[in-house]
Amino acid sequence: MRIVCLDLEGVLVPEIWIEFAERTGIPELRRTTRDEPDYDKLMKYRLDILRQHQLGLPDIQKVIAEMGPMAGARDFLDSLREAYQVVILSDTFYEFAHPLMRQLGWPTLFCHSLEADSTGMLVNYHLRMPNQKQEAVRRFKELKFTIVAAGDSYNDTAMLGEAHGGILFHPPENVVREFPQFPVVRDYGALRGEIDRAFARY
Ligand SMILES: [Mg+2]
Repeated sequence: MRIVCLDLEGVLVPEIWIEFAERTGIPELRRTTRDEPDYDKLMKYRLDILRQHQLGLPDIQKVIAEMGPMAGARDFLDSLREAYQVVILSDTFYEFAHPLMRQLGWPTLFCHSLEADSTGMLVNYHLRMPNQKQEAVRRFKELKFTIVAAGDSYNDTAMLGEAHGGILFHPPENVVREFPQFPVVRDYGALRGEIDRAFARY
């Protein structure tokens, strides 16, 4: 009874805000929690910028649909889902992920949500709960599942630590240095191998 918990951005799809900033030519949207550690401030700033550019949810979803998942992501995920239950745990929003989930065959996704007004303009965001990646893994363990988790960044490390096996996929070097306890893989073939090996230990 095994579940693979996967991060979304940086693992199966590009970093949505960064890629969105590139595609729309709005550099202010490249701001991340590294530039503005206060997440609430950062999100309000992002929603303001979108409103200033008159970008409503349908426009945003159209740009996100064009990004597409990473090369090979769909095949990797399909094959993984034949062998294991897979749940994607992400700090993105359902409304952003929707066009990409279609291209990934609608896998299970736990994330957060956005609120639009009647004209489609985004007016607010709602975090389902704090620290949801780690909390989800903890709850799955209570349900007697064995969990292997994979992600690419800081916001995944609590989830990786909580899981029976944690794997870093294509992480930045500073994350590799700070979390030497997690094996590092850089492509889908190696990730699948490491997932299989991690479960084989249980
Ligand atoms: Mg990520």
